[in-house]
Amino acid sequence: MDSATTIKEPSPPEAVVIQMVMGAWVSKVISDVTRLNVPDVLKQHGSMSAAEMIARHGVEARPECLERALRACASLGIFTESATGEFGPTKLSDALTMDSPVSVKKLVESLAGSWWKVWTGLCDAIRTGEPQARNQLGMEWWDYLKANPKEMEDFGEAMKSNSLSSMKGVLEKCDFTNSKKVVDVGGGFGHLIIALLEKYSGLRGTVLDVPELIPIAKKNIQVNDPGISSRLEYIGGDMFKSVPPADVYVMKHIIHDWDDGRCIRLLRNCHQSMTGDGRVICVDAVLAPMGDTAGTPAKLLDCNMMVFISGKERTKVQWDELYQAAGFQIHTITSLRDNFGTSIIEGVKK
Ligand code: SAH
Repeated sequence: MDSATTIKEPSPPEAVVIQMVMGAWVSKVISDVTRLNVPDVLKQHGSMSAAEMIARHGVEARPECLERALRACASLGIFTESATGEFGPTKLSDALTMDSPVSVKKLVESLAGSWWKVWTGLCDAIRTGEPQARNQLGMEWWDYLKANPKEMEDFGEAMKSNSLSSMKGVLEKCDFTNSKKVVDVGGGFGHLIIALLEKYSGLRGTVLDVPELIPIAKKNIQVNDPGISSRLEYIGGDMFKSVPPADVYVMKHIIHDWDDGRCIRLLRNCHQSMTGDGRVICVDAVLAPMGDTAGTPAKLLDCNMMVFISGKERTKVQWDELYQAAGFQIHTITSLRDNFGTSIIEGVKK
């Protein structure tokens, strides 16, 4: 039968389910060709065969095996594929390159590394309620990062890469015109604070993160403009003990890392150190209420939190409970069009 006369039947349920489950293989093959640097090579040098990538551009692989992985990626639209065996870049592969303004390379690479290992424990996490980093990596997740500087650096890079779009959201949707000092709690490398200081010339900013991360952050983000560096400081500390005084606290992808008790302690620390009529700006998912099946990325991220650490994504009602318990109330929720469908949850003192 030629294709013009083919009648397309809907896929049977078992085929639909298998396609979904193969999502794990999709994830792995895209991550691993990214780790092999294929998207960058194609962006820099244009279309070529797997053999040429290996012979001329330092891709470490066996030609026929790389070709098989690339064909799988091309079938997903990541690369183009020609009848003569050349693979080319696309808009999707561009997002997997290092210097793309919307690069997700580092996050995608992490997914095939230590994150993949931790995810193998999902069933145990569901069964026991215990995060699985200790079982899979030998240590709790945050301890594992502190003990492995390369992993900590990769994690910082992954967070930065994941954060580019949500960072843009904060810059566009939150107004800091009348703010004096902002602390980015768990601010990672400091990319958000620096962008804020660039936009608001009167603003001062502090990045608070674990002491082990601070030298890595400073190495990765070098600020040469004295107009920025004079208003920027990095503090190594523990946000559960205290946070430096400020009128605005930003917590981007922080609250979802912790259980309710820890979150309330952290938010109370912000409440206590807050100067004037300040605000807290949290950026995280707001889960749809029970019965609303929308929002797959946030729900999968919620499972990611379950398997890694004792954090979770929260519904609006749960966010409200946290804020109330710490002396805040929700002022506005603004949804962002970022990778995980997250929102800005802005709170003010009650
Ligand atoms: N806000 C950043 C990073 C989020 S990842 C972003 O959106 O990209 C979570 C961050 O919390 C990491 O940088 C981690 O080092 C930091 N963190 C974990 N425990 C902490 C603690 N007790 N005190 C301060 N920061 C902490």
